[in-house]
Amino acid sequence: MQEKKKSDVVEKIVSLAKRRGFVFQSSEIYGGLNGCWDYGPLGVELLKNIKEEWWKFMTYRENVEGLDASILMHPKVWEASGHVENFSDPMIDCKQCKSRFRLDILVETLASKKKKKYLQEFITKVDSVEYKEKVNGLGDDENEINVIFNLILDDDSCNKILLTEINCPQCGNKGTFTEARLFNLMFKTFIGPLEDTSSVVYLRPETAQGIFVNFLNVQGSSRQKLPFGIAQIGKAFRNEINTKNFLFRTREFEQMEMQFFVRPSDAQKWFDYWKSERLEWFKSLGMTPNKLRYHDHEKLAHYADAATDIEYEFPFGWGEIEGIHNRTDFDLSRHEQFSGKSLKYFDEEAKEKFIPFIIETSAGASRSFMAFFIDAYYEEEVNGEVRVVLRFNPKIAPIKAAILPLVNKDGMPKVARKIETELRKNFKVFYDDKGAIGRRYRRQDEAGTPYCFTIDTQTFEDNTITVRERDSMLQERILIDELKNYLIRKIIG
Ligand code: ATP
Repeated sequence: MQEKKKSDVVEKIVSLAKRRGFVFQSSEIYGGLNGCWDYGPLGVELLKNIKEEWWKFMTYRENVEGLDASILMHPKVWEASGHVENFSDPMIDCKQCKSRFRLDILVETLASKKKKKYLQEFITKVDSVEYKEKVNGLGDDENEINVIFNLILDDDSCNKILLTEINCPQCGNKGTFTEARLFNLMFKTFIGPLEDTSSVVYLRPETAQGIFVNFLNVQGSSRQKLPFGIAQIGKAFRNEINTKNFLFRTREFEQMEMQFFVRPSDAQKWFDYWKSERLEWFKSLGMTPNKLRYHDHEKLAHYADAATDIEYEFPFGWGEIEGIHNRTDFDLSRHEQFSGKSLKYFDEEAKEKFIPFIIETSAGASRSFMAFFIDAYYEEEVNGEVRVVLRFNPKIAPIKAAILPLVNKDGMPKVARKIETELRKNFKVFYDDKGAIGRRYRRQDEAGTPYCFTIDTQTFEDNTITVRERDSMLQERILIDELKNYLIRKIIG
């Protein structure tokens, strides 16, 4: 099998996604809307299957309940959560070409050699003896360079000078950047007919808050006791400064989040438990194990006591697909404070009231979609031709089986249609009688369909059909009556 080529895999995926109806640019006929994508016939199935697998894995348990909270919430929710105050990214604009950059991301993309050069130019323009000494003492150690670079960027009195040294990555000009400004990522809108400050609401930037504010509603109605969790899948919106890398960073996306409420003394145990469960989930759906890793955070968000990311190795580098956090009692305490309502849990055995700690697992459905898509993409040489195949795990494959009469005559279509009607009751299947059988197989390979059922002359002799398996391309014969069970076995396991 040929190795995937790294550099152009994303381009190939974007083009395949469009050609085969996985993902289209939003509002394409109007030139598109940046950071927004539409899921086509195959994409919507893949996305739905990923969400369904997550839902089953996370909520088909005794101690996890589901929830679907509304996207619009009381504006105070976002004050309590810290989003009004803190949910912002520093951004800079190039005055020359008008490009806008997220400062931290721009800095990340600079090579350390360049950073060192910028630092050396910077110290010729400042008086600080401390910085001069630090920069003059610098070797080539990447970490050391990064530490000093970030230290100066954090220094409000000096960072403007450092920014004047950096060339704009878009137009190449130097000294054209504005100062860094904080930009809140929440989309604002208005509720009701008046567009004034009292009617401002936000499109939620995460699904988590809907869970926190419903903590006692769910706990009381489901009679759960600690430890237990609440899970939710839903849209989230962030006015990201730089959307890029296809579905990786978009302005509208879906999250799959679970908040697990525990006694404070049990928090570390459950953090470790969910960390391991969540990694296993990606692996159980066929994601390549050595393309997955944990990235433990040293610098923690204001609400977190411990945090780790599950990262996937995308063609453009490692990127977070899920975050696991110990959020302590931060969220419930803040909502208590801002709403004036108690969110304490009453422990009947110990007869005490307290605010539970929360372990959060927060995955992006759309970002996972992209990781599963890239991971499944293979190009192989078969009989001198390149075959493109999406090796999706059958559980998430958009179409489970294709039903193909070998020729479009001799009674084969009739049998094929009968099989199709029967299987359609339970599975997403596809009927195709057009073109040579080899080409039809290739079309299904590209759609990631794990099984092709071919009806041929032997079918009329012994009631069997050929099953052709996508990855191995091996063929075997099975009885028509066995097809449903065959798919159940392969897909449900
Ligand atoms: P990043 O640092 O990449 O912006 P984050 O740390 O802000 O992500 P979280 O707030 O922890 O992300 O969100 C949880 C998950 O939601 C992420 O792991 C990711 O899968 C998904 N996610 C976050 N922002 C986006 C986005 N703009 N587009 C698509 N998915 C996203």
